[in-house]
Amino acid sequence: MKTIGVLTSGGDAPGMNAAIRAVVRTAVENDMTVYGIRNGFEGLMNGDVYEMNLRSVSNIIQSGGTILKSARSQEFKMDSGQQKAADMCRRLGLDGIVVIGGDGSFRGAKDLTSKGITCMCIPGTIDNDIACSDDTIGFDTAMNTIMQMIDRVRDTTESHSRCSVIEVMGRSAGYLALYSGIAVGATSILIPEFECDFEIDVVERMRRTIESGKRHFVILVAEGVGDATEMAKQIEEKTGVETRTTILGHVQRGGSPTVRDRVLASQMGNYATRLIRDTRESRVIACKDGNLVNYKIEEALAMTKNIDLDAYRLAHEISI
Ligand code: ATP
Repeated sequence: MKTIGVLTSGGDAPGMNAAIRAVVRTAVENDMTVYGIRNGFEGLMNGDVYEMNLRSVSNIIQSGGTILKSARSQEFKMDSGQQKAADMCRRLGLDGIVVIGGDGSFRGAKDLTSKGITCMCIPGTIDNDIACSDDTIGFDTAMNTIMQMIDRVRDTTESHSRCSVIEVMGRSAGYLALYSGIAVGATSILIPEFECDFEIDVVERMRRTIESGKRHFVILVAEGVGDATEMAKQIEEKTGVETRTTILGHVQRGGSPTVRDRVLASQMGNYATRLIRDTRESRVIACKDGNLVNYKIEEALAMTKNIDLDAYRLAHEISI
């Protein structure tokens, strides 16, 4: 494989730039030509590309976001859009594409593969909801950001003897809420993977901790669980503790990537580029038990990932 493209797609995640850097440097050092594709599949359909060299990716390893920009494209979800993108790849002489994104982007890569274009997928999403991989690029940074933000909220919650209901991202996955919840000592963590009994898991737990002398509370809610503001109202009514809601929102997506995300992104970018050069097959890169592995895209998309029951049990036992 002599010429490849690289794009970022779906929600951006800290560490995407470190992955782009690794792809570009690995490609150039292995005598390949590499094009940066702007705005994900949207840019690919429209031929919005530029040739990258070793210096195109200077000074980006520490920055959040993505220098290639990201987009969500409805047109690409249709067969005609995928055909347009495949035709553009042939016109530009792209033998393969490295796709950095989440599972929606991998579905796009699978469709593009069926049009004859090789795609190498790298998991880049803060949600960690890629079943085949233990970790995704951006997850560690987002957890650290959430922890820092909640530490700040906690200061004021403590000063006023309040309860804070804090909503974190994760769509239908509770990984961000679970691990950051352990890290901040949340009294209750509500995640979509476990059906919660609001009375027992929140109200009763708070009453027990009040009896033991606790006066401030952090209740962590993953966005897929329900309306955090409504929950705050119910908590105040049922416990008498003044309760406020904080929705962390897009602050969770930004910021300089952690060491762990920079290293993971560098490893995955390097591995993906070597693999696409050597195999010319469409695959998803994953991290399993500390090792990099790869799967067929269909296989990766069919996998399911269970939430860590031990982590949930631990949170329940010690955050009381
Ligand atoms: P994140 O979960 O972090 O937001 P993602 O990659 O899952 O990342 P999506 O918005 O679901 O984000 O997908 C990104 C893009 O991939 C979509 O805008 C669309 O162009 C393409 N895509 C998503 N699903 C499909 C599909 N089923 N078939 C073809 N293309 C798809």
